[in-house]
Amino acid sequence: MTGGIDTAKLDWEANAPRSIFFGDIYFSGDGVEESRHVFIGGNDLVRRFAAARRFTIGELGFGTGLNILVAWDLWRRTEKPNGARLDFLSFEKFPLAGTDLARAHGNWPALSGLSAALIRQYPPAATGIHRLQLDRDVTLTLAFGDAIDMLQRMEAGVDAWFLDGFAPAKNPEMWSPDVFAEIARLSAPGATAATFTVAGAVRRALGAAGFEIEKRSGYGRKREMLTARRKQAGSTSKPAPWFANENLTTLPPGAPVAIIGGGVAGASLAHELWNAGLAPIIIDPDGIAAGASGNPAGLIMPRIDAGDDAAARFSRAAYFHALRTIAALEAQSGERIFNPCGVLLHASSADERERQAKIVAARQLPEDWIEARADGLFFPQAGVVDPVRYCQLLAGDAPLIAHKTLSVSTAADGVLVTFQDRGPVRADAVILANGADTLRFAAARTLPLTRVMGQIDFFPEAAPPAIAHVFGPYAAPAPAGGLVIGATYEPVGQAVAPYTTIAASAENIRAVSSALEDLAATLSSDAARPRASIRCQTPDRLPVAGPAPDWNFFGDAYDDLRFGVKRDYPRGCVVPGVHLLTGLGSRGLVTAPLAAAAMVAEMTGALSPLEREIAEALHPARFFIRDLRRAKRILSK
Ligand code: SAM
Repeated sequence: MTGGIDTAKLDWEANAPRSIFFGDIYFSGDGVEESRHVFIGGNDLVRRFAAARRFTIGELGFGTGLNILVAWDLWRRTEKPNGARLDFLSFEKFPLAGTDLARAHGNWPALSGLSAALIRQYPPAATGIHRLQLDRDVTLTLAFGDAIDMLQRMEAGVDAWFLDGFAPAKNPEMWSPDVFAEIARLSAPGATAATFTVAGAVRRALGAAGFEIEKRSGYGRKREMLTARRKQAGSTSKPAPWFANENLTTLPPGAPVAIIGGGVAGASLAHELWNAGLAPIIIDPDGIAAGASGNPAGLIMPRIDAGDDAAARFSRAAYFHALRTIAALEAQSGERIFNPCGVLLHASSADERERQAKIVAARQLPEDWIEARADGLFFPQAGVVDPVRYCQLLAGDAPLIAHKTLSVSTAADGVLVTFQDRGPVRADAVILANGADTLRFAAARTLPLTRVMGQIDFFPEAAPPAIAHVFGPYAAPAPAGGLVIGATYEPVGQAVAPYTTIAASAENIRAVSSALEDLAATLSSDAARPRASIRCQTPDRLPVAGPAPDWNFFGDAYDDLRFGVKRDYPRGCVVPGVHLLTGLGSRGLVTAPLAAAAMVAEMTGALSPLEREIAEALHPARFFIRDLRRAKRILSK
């Protein structure tokens, strides 16, 4: 599976789209009444929305997004319990091109406000999960790719299914027993399903998946349709036992959550917690974006390699998500914090050029998102963000406690954060998001985090290049003017505070001269405004994001792994109320928003924006488990 996928090829009859490939229509009539009859009525959503605190809709076949617009419109008009939230999860193999989507939406002027919000965030045609924030209380998680493949990658507790693939006779794949087995796995207790078809194969497959079926009168010329209710509870989870977070509790609406760290990790968490209806409090003695997130320029670009493993898929999804987040922040604030100048990733050797050619051939990104040039790969949508404003906008109105945390402890009623010079803060949960300083707390102590000092040099008066260049280090036009080059890379011990040197400025200029000789010739270290900070890096270059493992439990429960013992291991336990987001390395501006969204979804029991395998690849216990397994190999030598 690779990144870029085919968009839907359509015929238009008036303004109604028809799939050329499947030879079938997306909706009949103007679509709205049909959608209300089959999917809203079939799942009894008018009544169920009114009682919902949290509701998840799963859809097979996103198509034009009409069903989602109709359900979202109903949700908006429904009087619901305070803090109620709606998550959509919709699967689509051949996404409509943006222009086709907009044309179809032209059919529904009454839904134009919602449609505009969806179109604004509509993701590129790339495989994977795209998380959109439609309203503060409504998310849309679009899973682009073949339904069966993507269903298998997800965890969810769906309350109502919209089964809207094309007709079973024209698209049997979408209605296969394997698909229904996944529907059963991803169903919440009492889940319902509705579909326009009464085909025998669909009825049998729904029955086999534990649903009780009822025929109802169909819409328009269709005599009948199906509704179904699942009798058994779903069995949603398939994680490796150590990543199961067995005793994780979910936070109620309005719960206060303390975030230690005011960098991009903490600010992204504040943003997501606020979206989720919780009350974030940021704690950082130096304020927002004072550390590694405080440079005058930061690159927003994909980290791309030829493979398509969990790391590559996370990186791609995080890139799209960061761009969407920035666009939303710009739209809300009316401020410009991002220069979409594009980024050129230089290829300086034949090997590098060959690697880049493989990446392009593997279609890791949609065609218009990556361009092979003579001197490297160009990413047209990438660019340079103002990191400080980015973090400030993410942090929003979250209260800031500008004091140094002394300790974090758990109690029966939540967590207590103490300080030397002010009274303690009580919260329902705490997230350690303070880079390598997380190592000061027991919850993070055993994590293999490395402190890496990096110096950048800012030339406020220099004429910057029109685009950003990456050649190992980078040279980028700062959004507020001037040029930023860097960064140096120096692993340092726990006691070292960041400091700048003239030698490091010279090193940065030298690096520029290897790729951009003319630009380097205009720079001298005397004119540089150097800035050094500490990044926090993990061995696998992925963030640490998730609940803090209960290390005592892990030590006892999984020690056998070092002897290669295969048995039914218990599900992993976490420290109630304590979470970690750290190890973002030099890519936090890109990865923090998605990692934060995933963590907050987990903390509130909402739908995860990550494939299970990716969530496991970010889990704080991964190094512990890997080390035990590695020990097994050493012992058996
Ligand atoms: N619900 C849509 C709407 O509101 O516009 C209409 C969906 S249309 C009838 C069926 C959709 O299923 C198409 O967009 C098609 O590309 C998608 N589809 C077909 N086969 C698929 C598969 N194997 N996996 C995922 N999506 C598939």
